[in-house]
Amino acid sequence: MKTVYLDNNATTQVAPEVVEAMLPFLREHYGNPSSMHAFGGRVEAPVEEARASVAKLIGADQPSEIIFTSCGTEADSTAIWSALNTETDKNHIITTRVEHPAVRSLALHLKRKGYRITELPVDSAGLIDPRDVERAITKKTAIISIMSANNETGVLFPIEEIGRIAAGYGVKLHTDAVQLVGKQPLDVRNLNVNFLALSGHKIHAPKGVGALYVKRGTRFRPFLIGGHQERGRRGGTEAVPNVVALGKAAELALDHVTEERTHVRALRDWLEQGLLEAIPRSQVNGDLLNRLPNTTNVSFEHVEGEAILLMMSDLGIAASSGSACTSGSLEPSHVLRAMGVPYTFAHGSIRFSLSRYNTADEVEYVLEHMPPIIARLREISPFWKD
Ligand code: PLP
Repeated sequence: MKTVYLDNNATTQVAPEVVEAMLPFLREHYGNPSSMHAFGGRVEAPVEEARASVAKLIGADQPSEIIFTSCGTEADSTAIWSALNTETDKNHIITTRVEHPAVRSLALHLKRKGYRITELPVDSAGLIDPRDVERAITKKTAIISIMSANNETGVLFPIEEIGRIAAGYGVKLHTDAVQLVGKQPLDVRNLNVNFLALSGHKIHAPKGVGALYVKRGTRFRPFLIGGHQERGRRGGTEAVPNVVALGKAAELALDHVTEERTHVRALRDWLEQGLLEAIPRSQVNGDLLNRLPNTTNVSFEHVEGEAILLMMSDLGIAASSGSACTSGSLEPSHVLRAMGVPYTFAHGSIRFSLSRYNTADEVEYVLEHMPPIIARLREISPFWKD
């Protein structure tokens, strides 16, 4: 069966060039970069090249500002714990209501441990007001952790402006840029952030690798305490094949970032417009301008997201829904709830997220099949009236 993969914010296809780049490090060059012998030493230079390539992708001044991690979640945890462990007299964290669980669940965990958490609201377009950040800062604020782009709606946050505010008060800023990296040009030098998290599997590298940018001069404590790897900033033998893969993916992301804003955006806009035109009572969730070029979150009133996904899946179309089945009840996502999306729409929300590998034929296929899917589900919906 045909597969149309439109779930790239969940994970991405590993680029063929990335597979090629990592294979020698699985087959032949399997040494440990910390070993004294030449066999191990042979993998040291490729790891450093990968570091330089990740640094270049995000505009870091120096490769040494990049620490390799196992995933985006580890990078987020490392940043937040580092701030708490270096500023032990502070107990306050500022974040938002729409963070990914990588940050949100940690914040809830810390709240249970006695930390004070401020979760900033978003407006109906999913945007945050930087003035709210300023109002929330206190002398006890150890770190502000705000995502660069939302994974469900693609909405972009004003990190540069928040960075200026945070720096003005001398408060550390972390941004979870897992969804932004590779989709928008990025220059950390303009952002005034201390930390930035990214993840390999969102940019066509395999799962199992991520990175944390730590601005030079930022006080730091490791999250994984162990060996002296990563200049003592993360214990654990480097996952050399994955690190090399991330380096290659970063290089490709830089080459393709313009394509994201042209080819990918054009396909996304066509898909979105086509759905809105063909399906009555549908709407896009999230600000239309401040948005990633690859993401659209569309709600279809009075249908269940899960039911839509299942019918799409039968036709080979992969996407995500904005509701999660927890403890038997279908709860709309915390992001859509924070935006105040009415329940009748929030339940029927589908996130389509594209990549450079998607084609016009695929969008046409989805546009052909979505209207009958929604119509069929509405026929059996007790709430739907034409
Ligand atoms: N942050 C955001 C915004 C994400 O979308 C994700 C993954 O979906 C993560 C963090 C976690 O990344 P990883 O899966 O690499 O741990």
